[in-house]
Amino acid sequence: MINKRPTFSVVAPVYNEEQLIEEFCQRTSAALEPLGEPFEIVLVNDGSRDRSPELMREINRRDPRVKVVYFSKNFGHQLAITAGTDYAQGCAVVVIDSDLQDPPEVIPELIAKWREGYEVVYAVRAEREGETWFKTMTAALFYRLIIKITSVNIPVDTGDFRLMDRKVVDSLARIREHHRFMRGLSVWVGFKQAGVPYRRHARKAGDTKYPLRKMLKFALDGITSFSYLPLQLATYLGFITAAISMTFLIAVVIMRLLYTGNPTDSAFYGQASTLAMVLFLGAVQLVSIGIIGEYVGRIYDEVKGRPLYIVSDALGFDDEHKPYGLRTQE
Ligand code: UDP
Ligand code: MG
Repeated sequence: MINKRPTFSVVAPVYNEEQLIEEFCQRTSAALEPLGEPFEIVLVNDGSRDRSPELMREINRRDPRVKVVYFSKNFGHQLAITAGTDYAQGCAVVVIDSDLQDPPEVIPELIAKWREGYEVVYAVRAEREGETWFKTMTAALFYRLIIKITSVNIPVDTGDFRLMDRKVVDSLARIREHHRFMRGLSVWVGFKQAGVPYRRHARKAGDTKYPLRKMLKFALDGITSFSYLPLQLATYLGFITAAISMTFLIAVVIMRLLYTGNPTDSAFYGQASTLAMVLFLGAVQLVSIGIIGEYVGRIYDEVKGRPLYIVSDALGFDDEHKPYGLRTQE
């Protein structure tokens, strides 16, 4: 078993990438072959609805180093990465997007750092090409915000493109939470970490599979899995509102006692200000309940304990090989 283990595994999630999958495998193999060590490419088909599944089957027939895990439906990018790392057998596992935004040619650089003794080597986007102004801005803001409010030091401007040592992959495999923010978890597990700068290219073909709705959910997963701050916000807001309204109350009493004119002329007469205050507080309370809801929903998902993903087929893995996700179910 041990001697069959490849030195490197490259894990890539695939969701409707029929135009790119062939080139991805070629370029990845071309980047790894000069190193002269055995490697495998683990593709995870995340319920693609185009020709990607058949194409991957073909590639596997031609080149058994390319293995494919088929999901029974679309489970999402983060779970596809999880499955890939569960199935990967290499001493070092590289996670990379299959849309060629992360150039496979950078992998040898990550490997060089790993050889220096680093156990997590993440690729840092020194430059981004072909992204919309909106995406670059929101991403930059998000990574800075998450560092401020969480206890893990997620490196700025990194994605999921990274190399992890076997020890790290095994530690990650023990984390079975559903709303996974992999780039945070791989920092949370600890170990010796280093970054390598690279240029993130524009997507070669096809469209992004991350519309704004998914991006927001992803950002929320990142924040809620590493921070209680949104929950504590209600407490802070409560204290602030209490302090303001106490001051206000005292002022009103004093002014009422001192005021001698017609009460309808008083600054505190009338319903508009009252209504505005009540509506404002109502809104704050609703938002606070919503925030609690985000956490409760996530707790509910964990408690149900469903499997993280369901595999309908796995191509190219030896029979005795059981991925971690399946091992724990027995
Ligand atoms: N992806 C996936 N499942 C999804 C969405 C995306 O496996 O539900 C894959 C996709 O094929 C790609 C990677 O995740 O390899 C990153 O997705 P994408 O390039 O669309 O995101 P972006 O780079 O635009 O943030
Ligand atoms: Mg992409």
